[in-house]
Formats: sequence, structure tokens, C-alpha cells
Amino acid sequence: MNEEAPPVIQVRDVTKVYSMGSIEVPALQGVSLEIEKGEMVAIMGPSGSGKSTLMNILGCLDQPTSGSYLLNGIEVEGLSEEELAEVRNQEIGFVFQSFNLLHRTPAVEQVELPLIYSTTDNRRERALAALEEVGLADRSHHRPTELSGGEQQRVAIARAIVSNPSIIMADEPTGNLDTRNSREIMAIFQRLNRKHGITIVFVTHESDIAAYTQRIIHVQDGLIISDEPVADPQPAGQDLADPTDPTDPSDEDPLSAGGPRLPEGLRVALRALAANKLRTALTTLGIVIGVSAVVALMSIGMGAQAAITGQIQGMGTNLLFISPGAARQDGVRQGAGTAPTLTMEDATAIAEAADVPGVVAAAPESQIMGQVVAGSQNVRTRVVGTTSDYQEVRNFRAASGDFISRQQQEARSLVAVLGSSVAKDLFGEMDPVGQSVRINQVTFQVIGVMESKGAQAMGNQDDVVFVPMSTLFQRLQNQRTAGGSRNVSTIYVQLERPEVKTSVVELIGQLLRERHRVTQDDFTVRSQEDMLQALGSVTMTLTVVLGAIAGISLVVGGIGIMNIMLVSVTERTKEIGIRKAVGAKRRHIITQFLIEASTVSILGGIVGILVGVGSSRLISGLNLGGQSLRTQASPTVLLLAFGVSAAVGLFFGIYPANRAAGLNPIEALRYE
Ligand code: ADP
Repeated sequence: MNEEAPPVIQVRDVTKVYSMGSIEVPALQGVSLEIEKGEMVAIMGPSGSGKSTLMNILGCLDQPTSGSYLLNGIEVEGLSEEELAEVRNQEIGFVFQSFNLLHRTPAVEQVELPLIYSTTDNRRERALAALEEVGLADRSHHRPTELSGGEQQRVAIARAIVSNPSIIMADEPTGNLDTRNSREIMAIFQRLNRKHGITIVFVTHESDIAAYTQRIIHVQDGLIISDEPVADPQPAGQDLADPTDPTDPSDEDPLSAGGPRLPEGLRVALRALAANKLRTALTTLGIVIGVSAVVALMSIGMGAQAAITGQIQGMGTNLLFISPGAARQDGVRQGAGTAPTLTMEDATAIAEAADVPGVVAAAPESQIMGQVVAGSQNVRTRVVGTTSDYQEVRNFRAASGDFISRQQQEARSLVAVLGSSVAKDLFGEMDPVGQSVRINQVTFQVIGVMESKGAQAMGNQDDVVFVPMSTLFQRLQNQRTAGGSRNVSTIYVQLERPEVKTSVVELIGQLLRERHRVTQDDFTVRSQEDMLQALGSVTMTLTVVLGAIAGISLVVGGIGIMNIMLVSVTERTKEIGIRKAVGAKRRHIITQFLIEASTVSILGGIVGILVGVGSSRLISGLNLGGQSLRTQASPTVLLLAFGVSAAVGLFFGIYPANRAAGLNPIEALRYE
């Protein structure tokens, strides 16, 4: 033995006082002790004498109240929590009375555990070698419930030696075993001590177990009362593998055997989640509901937005809308059509003005509600007065017959063009062209039927009848339904190109001001973009509000995760203690629980997206009073929903994970 090497353990005047409220319990009252490399020492003493306290301090699971402790010549007192975890991981192997194995975990993974917290490669090989060392090579895939007590303790010993520690600390390692198994365990310890020179420190109260060691230290009332070498250490005999129970390593854990191996963290998370399937499913359900609600409601909002955008764009290309009434200074427009300032002649003037370049056509529009009768059928619908340019400007096509012509407009002809749904309501499948209809008791000849534009977000574009504007003013508005004035509600101006807009808007403004003999605008000119912007911001708000409402359920789902994770932390306190004892650092524990929480939320996110997209498809198919509600699940929304659900898992996992990581290893190990 190298004389110059420092003792493995050097304890000077160590005291430990537990304070319980106002009461102070002195567990150690000044212990000094040296243990050389390669010694096998038993610590004995009556219950309550301070043996476990001393073991915990020697094992760096606890810190002394005063005194110094040098492990391999290094002062332990100044070490941080992280460094202590590293010391436990590298230098110390623990063996406990109650074995302290992880639930549902195959032997080989139990043994690998300390290696997971150091960066070592070849974990599996080293774990198998350690199992072989304790004679359990053929039990590597057995779980604790499939192993006898003696075998479980041998797995624990394999775990203790797998990272080649300099010391094994064993706290009553044979306390739960019968005589034969106790002897076998002692034989393994003796061999490890002899063959590998591992220092072994025991706590036991059985003197026949202590007799297998080389030195016995007696502790009483927190003090060492004797420290004597064993004159003639007993050999425990052969430590052959338990010959009984030669079962096959059947029922292999699907998460660990065969196929590519998942990363440790994910494997542990999946195993923990699989252990409580119903609970996991219910927790996931919270996230599924939240995410699917967000996806479905946002798709409705986005769908509405797309429908409105499509409709404004479908009105025509490069359109300007002129409506009566000025935009006020503060930007709030007066109600459209309140001020009767636009006339049919204004439209003609704009279309014909030589000094307004880039204007293709201009069409005025004025409308009343009218009763339209054909034979025994009758419908109440919008009757729109306009001019021949309307069909070009508004991008309307005639499905049969023609639109109003310039001559008919000038002659104030009694002709009408039916929207497709009006045509269908009045004439069924028959072609109405050439037939006559009565609009508010005036007989009109049907000269055309428009192509269907379909029901859209802003009302049914096919539920309309067009007549020449001059006819509307003269023959329809003078009757009792009349609005009284001959003013138009909108003038649509079609431009050649979108880019001439600003100057054209200015020129049109000038023209109209001159015509109206005013200096202040008594009309408002807006472009399609202006309309898109205005309506876009409304629907965007709608989408965001819908999303936010659904987001609340996502938060509730997140709280569900937090709740279950907290339960999980409590349930697995012992597991956390074991992990910490073998050298898991804070971040290892935090990562483990965060992976678990995010697995739940990501799983819920994926299912939620599927459910959300599915239900938004269903909603799309619904027919609500003739109007279909279009939905649109954009990839952005899906990505967002997925990202948010993962973030929810992380966020709500942080608190429980932190709580787990903050557990005191000794208390966690004692937790039952
Ligand atoms: P042993 O292992 O020899 O039975 P312990 O080291 O467990 O003895 O306990 C020594 C003394 O310290 C006992 O009086 C015990 O009640 C007390 N003690 C141990 N742990 C705690 C604790 N966490 N808080 C308060 N008192 C404790």
C-alpha cells in the first residue's frame, strides 16, 4: 500500500446538530476518524447513536455542522452542491438496506444510472460488466419485482461499483436479507475489497456481519467509543450466483430492449408516463382541448379574413370607391350615403374627364329594396340602379342575355338583369331572358341573368336585380318606397393600373370639388387597399380575440400538466433521492421533469392540431342559413399552436421540476 497516499477518509472533530424548531438534537458530538485506502470497516452502535448521520456525512449526502472532512485529501466543506453531486457520482458507491432500486426499470439500466450523470461512453458494456461482477449477468433485463431480495441487493452493489468509486458506503446492506443471502453479499464485498482494493464502510448492528470486516468502530451518543481491528476477519465464503430461480429474462422492457435506443431522458419520461396511462391521457386531454380550440377558432377567424379579402378583390381590379360624405378630420367617416352629394352625372364626368388619366370606367350605384314578382313567385331583394359600365367595373359576367346597355340607360328602358339566385327563385331552371317581372308594380323585361358570385361574407351577391339607374330614379324611387333623392350611394371607378392611384385620387377630388362648388371634400375616395386594410384589421382583431379565448383553455391545460407533475414529483421523491445519491445534479433532475412535461404537452399539441384541423374542416362543411362558414388552417397557426403547446409544457413544468431538483437527497431517500 502506498504510504504517501492520504487516507481516503479523514474526519476531524465533526459534529452534527439537527435543529427541530427550538429543539437542537446533537447527533454527532465531535467525531474524529481516519480510514485508509483498501480498508473494510464496520460502524456499529445502538439505534439513534448517530451511525446514519455519520454515513451521510461520509457519503457527501449531508454536511457536518462543524469540523472538517477530507475525502481523498480534498476538503468537502467548500464544495458546491454540483461538486458534491460529482463526488458522489465518481468517488462513492452507495448500498442501502432497502436496496433503493428504481421501479419498473431493468437491472442493467439501474446499474447504468450513475454513468448517465457522468459523460462516460460504453455505459451498457460497463453496466453489464458490473452485473457480471456480482453474478447477475443473466438477470440484466429483470426488473426489481422479478428479482429476489439478494439479487436486488446485488444489482444495487453493481450500481455502486459501476463508476469505479474509491469507496462503497453501505448502510445496513444485509438488514433485509436472510443469513444465506447476507453471507453472499458479504462475500461479494470482501472480494471487491480484496480484488479491486475498494474501501468499504459499513453500518450494521449485527456483530456476525461486522465480523467479516477488518475493523469495527463503535459509536454511541454521537461519539466514537471504540475503534478496533478485527483480529481474524472471517471469509464469507464463495459468492456464487444464486442457483435458484433460473427464469429467462422474459418480458423485456420495450423501451430498453431491441431497436435503436431512445435518449435516456425521453426513455425515463415515457416510462413514467406509461406507468400512469389514464392520468397521462387525461393530462394530455387538457392540452388537446386547448390546442384544438386555438386551431379551430383561429381558422374561423382566418377564414373570415380570407373570405372578406377575396370578396373585396373579387369586386374588380384597381377599383376606387367614392362615397358621399366627407371623411372627418379625426379620421372618423360619416355614415356612408348620409350626405346626398354624389350624382349620376358625377360618374359620367369622372369617366369622361380628359384631364383624369388612367380611368378606364366609372359606374354609379344606387339601390332600394323592392318586391320582385314573376307569375306566382315573388322575392324581396335589392334593386340596384346603375349604368352599362357596371359589369366591367365590378367584374360581373352575364350568364345568359346581356347587361344594361348605354342606349337602355339613356332611354330609361324598363329592363332588368337578374342576379342568379333571384332568377332561380323566380323562374326555377327556366331561362328568364325575355320574360317579364314586376318590380314594385312596374313591369320590366328581363334582358339578362348574371353569373353566380356565390354567397360571401358580406351578403349574397347573387340576391340582386339590376336596372338602369335612370329608370330607378324615374320609375321606382318616385313611389312610396323611394328614398326621395336622386343620389348615388357609391361610384366605382376602375383604373388602368394600380400605381397611378394617388395622383388620380387627387384629380378626381379636384373634379368633384369643382362640380360641387365646394372647397372641402363632401365625398370620400377609398381604394380597394384601404377597404382591405380597414376590414383586415377588424378580422385580425376577431382572429386574435378568438385565439386568445381559446388560449385560456390552453393555459388551463398547462395548469393541469403542472398539477400532475407536482403529484409525480411527490410520488417519485424516493426515485429523485436515489438519482441524487448516485450523482444526479440539479440540471439532470430539472431536465428529466421538463422532458416529461413537454412530452405530455407536445403529444397533446400534435393530437390537438389534428383534432383542430379536423373540426375546422367539419365547421367548413356546415351550412349556416345559406352562408357557409369558411375556415382556413394556415401552417403559421399550426406551427404557432405547436410551439405554444410545447412552451406551455416547459413553462408549467418548470415549477415542479425545480421542486424536484431542490429536494434534499437524504430526506428524499427516506421518503416512503
Ligand atoms: P442511527 O443511524 O445510529 O440510528 P441517526 O444518525 O439516524 O442514528 O440519528 C442520530 C440522532 O439524530 C437521533 O437522535 C435522531 O433522532 C436524530 N436525527 C437523525 N436525523 C434527524 C433529522 N433529520 N432531524 C432531526 N433529528 C434527526
